[in-house]
Amino acid sequence: MNKTIHLLLPLVLFVAGCATPTVHNTLHTFTTVVVDPGHGGKDSGVFKNRVAEKIVALDTAQRLAGKLRAAGFRVVMTRDSDRFIELNDRAAISNKQRNAVFVSVHFNDGSRRAHGAQVYWHSNVSQEFAQRIENKLGEVTMKDGVPHANFRVLRLNQYPAVLVECGFISNRREARRCADTKFREQLAQKIAEGIIEERGARF
Ligand SMILES: [Zn+2]
Repeated sequence: MNKTIHLLLPLVLFVAGCATPTVHNTLHTFTTVVVDPGHGGKDSGVFKNRVAEKIVALDTAQRLAGKLRAAGFRVVMTRDSDRFIELNDRAAISNKQRNAVFVSVHFNDGSRRAHGAQVYWHSNVSQEFAQRIENKLGEVTMKDGVPHANFRVLRLNQYPAVLVECGFISNRREARRCADTKFREQLAQKIAEGIIEERGARF
């Protein structure tokens, strides 16, 4: 390799690694669910009203994982303990799987009055998936919409990918609810139902 290629190759690989991949529409065939508890380790996420997002996100995600395994899915968690994982690595874990979908679990920050669940998506392929989970969550909490977002874990994913904001920790009343294991169990149940119904036919 000449010197220019030596210099350019890492750059080309870097850009390729950051490019938005083509999303495979696995919504009705997937056998693996990548469950991604937001934040972790040195990154607490939202920390208000004595609730740390990284803790409640992990707990909700673990409950979700259990329900999906019970339904027969293979589940890969991007973290299963309180540790920090880079956003790129979370997407890379998803992209390593075969025939998967990706679901990130977060709790929200906003005004003190903001409330309800939002489900974010990036690729058009993921929009109906986001809407289905949002509709399910609407059975246990307020619906706050399914916005398009340019989040890295979604943008870099080659599978249908959504990011669930389960509720607003910035809202004292909602934070209290999010701190309750019974509510998190309901959230996990509804997210699981959305995923299982999206998959459709038995497998
Ligand atoms: Zn978050």
